[in-house]
Amino acid sequence: MKDAAIGTSQVSVLQQKLYSAKQALEEMNEEQNEKLRILMQFIAQLSLACKGQSLELDNKLAKLRHKLASFSQVEESLPTLYEAEATLKQQYAHVMLQLEDSRKSLSNIVGQIQRVESLPSKLKLEISYFKKDLLKPFHSYWDYIPKVEKIIGFYDAILQEKLNLGDQFEVLPRHRQAAHELAQLLSEIEFRKEQRIQISEIKQQLTEEFELNILLNAYQIVLGLLLDNIAREKTASQEFLYVLNNALSNVQEVVADSYSHSIKNYQVAKQLNRDINHQVDNVGETVIEVDDINELKNQITTHLASLRKSLSRKELLENREQAQLKQSVETLRRELKELGKETESYKERLFEQQKLNLLDSLTQLPNRSALEERMDIEYRNHKRTKQPLWVAVADIDHFKTINDSFGHSTGDKTLQVIAMALKNSLRESEFVARYGGEEFVLLLPDVAESDILPLLNRVREKIKSIPFKFKNQRITVTVSIGAAQIIENELITETFDRADAALYKAKNESRDRVIIDF
Ligand code: GH3
Ligand code: MG
Ligand code: MG
Repeated sequence: MKDAAIGTSQVSVLQQKLYSAKQALEEMNEEQNEKLRILMQFIAQLSLACKGQSLELDNKLAKLRHKLASFSQVEESLPTLYEAEATLKQQYAHVMLQLEDSRKSLSNIVGQIQRVESLPSKLKLEISYFKKDLLKPFHSYWDYIPKVEKIIGFYDAILQEKLNLGDQFEVLPRHRQAAHELAQLLSEIEFRKEQRIQISEIKQQLTEEFELNILLNAYQIVLGLLLDNIAREKTASQEFLYVLNNALSNVQEVVADSYSHSIKNYQVAKQLNRDINHQVDNVGETVIEVDDINELKNQITTHLASLRKSLSRKELLENREQAQLKQSVETLRRELKELGKETESYKERLFEQQKLNLLDSLTQLPNRSALEERMDIEYRNHKRTKQPLWVAVADIDHFKTINDSFGHSTGDKTLQVIAMALKNSLRESEFVARYGGEEFVLLLPDVAESDILPLLNRVREKIKSIPFKFKNQRITVTVSIGAAQIIENELITETFDRADAALYKAKNESRDRVIIDF
């Protein structure tokens, strides 16, 4: 009995132990499962990070993630896991190959960079270190990106270097031509006094050997100065209009004032006249009505006194009116005088400006714009008077040779001397302008057909006889001249074209001659 009791208690202890062990096992299982779940989640996340490398791998990993999502399918997911693992291995090998290819092609690029001529030595050294560094294999794409960045840096440095060299871009003939044209244009435009030094510096720079940026700067500065001049001219006109407007409104005020005074004075004077008339009538009536001579004397004396009073009031009024009128006139005169002065100074400025705009600054002859104006005038005169009108075009022969042999500034001086000679060889009514470069145009009104050839030959001879001496060398400068007379129903520009064609002929016929287009 006692044994039975002992046995029972032992079984119960065992049972107890078994229960505890079972519980511990369950807890252990639970913990294991938790770890497994974490591991599965980690695998799923990791697979997401691999996404995008290859379509096949992406599909397999997606399938795996799907399986791993439910814990019950862990067993089933194992084959997918194996498949994905194999694809991952292949992908890794593929990536390594790709990285190796990329490394090689970067190496090639660096080789090309090294072949770029005139690299600065510091950059050269840096590139060769980099090339050595490129010999080490890449382990991941992360190795690749900084290398590419570095190569871009090299290209950038080379580009900078080339751009800096761009300052010394070669100056081509067309740049020289542009510089020459700009310098010539600057000679034709008249600048304000304070601008002239800057302009002559620019002209100087343009005639010497120059770099391209000097030409660009010159354009920029000239444009700035011209815009400034235009703005000034505009302001001057506005100021003048403002003054004019002010003066006119002052004059208007004065006129309105004196008008209202006149009206008032007129009314007072009218009343006084009425009074005086009335008094004169009274005197008349008194003379008729009064018989007693003494009484009459008395009354007339009284009337005369009152009449004198009215008359002196009238005189006072007239004097006052006179004074007011004088004052108004004085004010008006002053205003008009001021206005006159303003107009005069404005006219002077305008005239100065016009004159400057119409003169060629190198030769001081009228320029092309002036020629156009004068052509208009002469054309209209001709139409009105029917007097003959000749247009002649003169061009210096082989002028380029003078520039080439003795320099541009000698060329300039020659132009000045010839311009002066042309001007001096003409009459007051005749006109010569510098048409451009070394070409001049003459307008010769009222010259008979028989006189034109001798006249122009005299001009030609006069220039030929100028004793030029360059570098101790006696030089004869000649001109060729073509001329034409305006004919019925012809525009003056057409006459000019015929004269120009005649000049062309003169040039072809060995120069130093006059050809008239009859
Ligand atoms: P041709 O007898 O055929 O007229 O020969 P040319 O050399 O006179 O004529 P071309 O048209 O070949 O050259 C004109 C030259 O005049 C070229 C240009 O450099 C020069 N020239 C134009 N304007 C000026 C100037 O203002 N100053 C100077 N110094 N030279 C000028
Ligand atoms: Mg010419
Ligand atoms: Mg010429």
